[in-house]
Amino acid sequence: MRVSLIVAAGGTGSRFLKTLHKHDGAKSGRQENKLFAPLEGVPVLLRSLRVFSDLPEVEEIICALPGALKGIVEAWKRREGLKKLRCVSGGRSRAESVYLASKRLKAHNDWVMIHDGARPLIAPEILKMFLKKSQSLKGSGFILGRAVVPTLKKLRPGSDQILETVDRRELVEAETPQLFRKKKLCDSYALLPHAERFLHTDEAALLEKCGETVSVIKHEGWNPKMTTVHDLKLAEAYVQMTEGLSWRIGMGSDTHRLAAKRKFCLGGIRLPAAFGPVGHSDGDALLHALTDAIAGALGWGDIGDFFSDQNPQFKNIRSAKMLSQVLAQAAHAGWKPAQADTIIHLDCPKMGPLKIKIQKKIAALLSLPDSSVGVKAKTFEGLMPAGSERVECQAVVVMRRMS
Ligand code: MG
Repeated sequence: MRVSLIVAAGGTGSRFLKTLHKHDGAKSGRQENKLFAPLEGVPVLLRSLRVFSDLPEVEEIICALPGALKGIVEAWKRREGLKKLRCVSGGRSRAESVYLASKRLKAHNDWVMIHDGARPLIAPEILKMFLKKSQSLKGSGFILGRAVVPTLKKLRPGSDQILETVDRRELVEAETPQLFRKKKLCDSYALLPHAERFLHTDEAALLEKCGETVSVIKHEGWNPKMTTVHDLKLAEAYVQMTEGLSWRIGMGSDTHRLAAKRKFCLGGIRLPAAFGPVGHSDGDALLHALTDAIAGALGWGDIGDFFSDQNPQFKNIRSAKMLSQVLAQAAHAGWKPAQADTIIHLDCPKMGPLKIKIQKKIAALLSLPDSSVGVKAKTFEGLMPAGSERVECQAVVVMRRMS
């Protein structure tokens, strides 16, 4: 089965904007498009595109969206390697956007699938079930739907008086994706006069109007449409529950004995001293504590699990290099530092203005603004006996999931 996918992302999201303004206070006036609103750090539309990009049955993805926003989606395409994706300008309505996108399909597939970009939580298992089941049924099209759960009342025309209670067993809530035989979809567009071509609220209605048979494939999962800002908040809680937290905190600590004739590396800079830390590496206790904190935040053990002091390969290794390697691994797993705080315990040399130098160095190493890095210095208050001079450091790091 080979499918061309159209993702409808052309809407202005007026209901979303209305609730956003209410939520944020009337003064905010932010002109945000719901499809680009972050859902646990990842834009709603990008989440929708990711799910389908991984489906082997999908050969091409045409995303219909306002021309002014095409650049953002093109950038996602490059960054995420979404090879199947192409962007086209949408129309004045969702229906017209899908129609325009259908004219730009390139692959010679028998099937066209349509999905609302505002349904980012569609589960891959449900998609697989939907496609598999569609192939065992006859008809011109299939839509994903859910049984209606609430009790529904029909009102007397023009009043709030109940006329009857609707039999919900006959009702289904229509969702996307919707899957159609390409020929039937194109024939339906051609059959209707232009004025009636874009009146439907989903493409199943278009085919129904043209006398085609469309069936519902029911599911019991959760595939909500992000219509109001409250939907987004609820979806965020759901993603946190299913994907885990998007923030992690790690702590690290390190101590090195000080000895004469060693270079004193601390926080990635060289301190003016005739002595320095003893260690297998350059002995930078502050960077070691930071590296431990990052590894700890992600449940990766400690620096020794990455760079064993038994391995001659790491003899005299620069601590900044170890930190950057752990950071690169964190980035690969989708995490980056958001903030760090550190404490240095050292009697001599006095830290004074060196603190700012270290703060700037750490900020640069972690790709953070200076204001997101704390460096505090303490002495041992004369409690350290002669011969046991040392440097001790503690670090706390907050890691954030990247979009
Ligand atoms: Mg160390």
